[in-house]
Amino acid sequence: MEKLRHFINGEFANPAEDRWLNVFEPATGKKYAELADGCEKDLDRAVGAALSAQHEWARTPAEVRARYLNRLADLIDANHERLVDAESRDNGKPVHVSAAVDIPRAALNLRFFAAAATQFASESHAAVDSINYTLRQPLGTVGCISPWNLPLYLFTWKIAPALAAGNCVIAKPSEITPLTATLFGELCIEAGLPAGVLNIVHGRGSEIGRLIVEHPDISAISFTGGTKTGADIASRAAPKFKKLSLELGGKNPTVVFDDCAHSNEQWEKMLRDVTRASFANQGQICLCGSRIYVQRPVYEKFLADFITRARAIAPGDPRDADTRHGAMVSKEHMEKVLANIETARQEGGRIECGGERVVVKGRCENGWFIAPTVITGLGNECRTNQEEIFGPVVTVMPFEDEHDAVRLANGTNYGLAASIWTNDVGRTHRLARDIDAGLLWFNTWMLRDLRVPMGGMKQSGVGREGGFEAMRFFTEAKNVTIKYE
Ligand code: NAD
Repeated sequence: MEKLRHFINGEFANPAEDRWLNVFEPATGKKYAELADGCEKDLDRAVGAALSAQHEWARTPAEVRARYLNRLADLIDANHERLVDAESRDNGKPVHVSAAVDIPRAALNLRFFAAAATQFASESHAAVDSINYTLRQPLGTVGCISPWNLPLYLFTWKIAPALAAGNCVIAKPSEITPLTATLFGELCIEAGLPAGVLNIVHGRGSEIGRLIVEHPDISAISFTGGTKTGADIASRAAPKFKKLSLELGGKNPTVVFDDCAHSNEQWEKMLRDVTRASFANQGQICLCGSRIYVQRPVYEKFLADFITRARAIAPGDPRDADTRHGAMVSKEHMEKVLANIETARQEGGRIECGGERVVVKGRCENGWFIAPTVITGLGNECRTNQEEIFGPVVTVMPFEDEHDAVRLANGTNYGLAASIWTNDVGRTHRLARDIDAGLLWFNTWMLRDLRVPMGGMKQSGVGREGGFEAMRFFTEAKNVTIKYE
């Protein structure tokens, strides 16, 4: 059985207490590897290695740091097939998705922040008698904790800016999807990344995750994951005055106005993108739209067309190049999503399609699959429309006018993203102003530019990632005032 080990001080390491966790392939439900279950001793070794490397790395010129990141990006490209297969096997996502999205984006994250390292600049403020400038220095050793839904994509999205800014990193991927981060350790060896600069520790969030958050020598935590976990991390990190970036859950609205299409072609494009926003990665993307509001005059037509599209998405073996809908990441998560669908039924929701576990014939017949599920007949206040489900499950509801749309869109504790479909330019500005979301897409979904601030309002997070926002997070700003003679 394959053993996935820590990567500490430039080499792979067994867990100090010889404890291992099971790792499963979601498409088959079978265990395929064992994962190091880290403890305090493992973390102390990793932090010790990072502290030893910290001084040198912080003084390494930005262009040299950038060269390492670019080399790692090149190695991701060179190992594309292997990483695509690994991500699909570990997470249950179709190879089509890991090949088109996860793996190329991981390489892009590294290249993007390699460039950022060399372009990052700080401000200066000149006065009559003095000048102030901002000295931005690395924080030291930082913790990067990432989730299972986009494993290598979000892992690199955090470590790349942290390393680019001159920090050493203790990274912890999700224990549910640890494979590609482990392979990344191999690429670090091949790239010649100095030992201790990046350390990858594995294990349970409730154990080694918490230890990372509380470790006195880790000065900042960049976390992406669930809102409840974010609250736990904030409560532990705040008394220690650690810098904190929290990218949390969402319950994102998709809003379709009756003026969104002047032609059949536009209508079809809207439907295609709303379907993607609903079910991409089996609905396991924090940015997926799970509450669809449709203006009354086009509600019936939308619903009929949308259900036709949802029904056409057949779950299949993630390894099959034609599959567009893979497995749920774990048995527990599948059961949680199915329980949420049952709650929707009890709340009076009508299951228009999907709603059940699906058996995919052949090698996947014990896999964890749920078909795209569309629910109607629910109000905004019910649990189904308030709590994050994080699966291929959406509700569809009618609305009357712009005012109504804003009220409904804002009617949850979350505020991560919104996707809005309209041809009225004036309305785009009003809704951008009035909808509580860190990311607003008009007539598109998940069109990402890595330079823009990315993050949520309300219970969807604190702080922003992306572009120079991330470089600012991973540096300490000191103001220096020099008085002229
Ligand atoms: P999770 O919160 O269970 O776990 C995320 C990571 O945190 C894992 O590595 C886990 O081991 C670790 N962890 C768990 N408990 C911890 C603790 N007490 N202290 C420290 N670390 C701990 O989340 P998940 O189930 O892996 O991911 C799904 C969630 O992530 C969803 O809520 C989704 O919306 C959210 N997410 C948000 C974004 C965003 O950018 N806002 C992106 C992707 C996913």
